[in-house]
Amino acid sequence: MSERPSIVAIGAHAADMEFSAGALLVKHVREGWQAHIVHLTLGEKGSATLSASDYGSQKRREAEAAAQCLGCTPHFLPYTDGELTPSGDVVREVAVLLRKLKAKVVVAHWPGSIHGDHSAAHDVVHKAIFMAANRHFDLDGLPPAGGIRLYYADNWEDAEGFEPLVYVDISEVVEDWEKGFKCYAIGRGEGGYPYWDWYQARTRLHGIKIGVSHAQAVSVDRWRMIQRRDTL
Ligand SMILES: [Zn+2]
Repeated sequence: MSERPSIVAIGAHAADMEFSAGALLVKHVREGWQAHIVHLTLGEKGSATLSASDYGSQKRREAEAAAQCLGCTPHFLPYTDGELTPSGDVVREVAVLLRKLKAKVVVAHWPGSIHGDHSAAHDVVHKAIFMAANRHFDLDGLPPAGGIRLYYADNWEDAEGFEPLVYVDISEVVEDWEKGFKCYAIGRGEGGYPYWDWYQARTRLHGIKIGVSHAQAVSVDRWRMIQRRDTL
């Protein structure tokens, strides 16, 4: 296993993490990191015209193409769109992956979402990080993975209470991100919702805020904002 640090983005549906954190992933790859995207479900029930089976196959092909553009390794878990729960099985599978990939940074869904799968994915990641770090869980004999830094992606569906707090300049990687983004039909606007417009505009606004062209922003748990100082 390479000693390069790993960033692992864990999304409820294929496309969630490419859209909301894809540029961050490219940025880390360019800095020498290994980047991974874990798809808990394919999001196979998202088509108005195709069967779940046909659309699932399409989403998988799109996810593989997008991962290649972004320089990431995709991981597909076998759960069902619209039925995700933070159950023991999925938590354990994610915990095993976190140990196997030696995750240093995890990007997950913010919990305040209009989509139940996204909130469930948030809970899955919280539990999996605890399990991966705790030596009392025997996960295929893998050593514990402690000290994982957890961030929450800026997803249009996860806006309830979301506050962007950490901004990363992505100006140099917007083109690569767009290529990966548009590997998905929905990323090209074919599903009717203007995903690229929303995400591109959002990163432009974040960029203006920190004085660069484009920035992708993430949030963190409030307790991580606590600062210890001797004086102000
Ligand atoms: Zn989703």
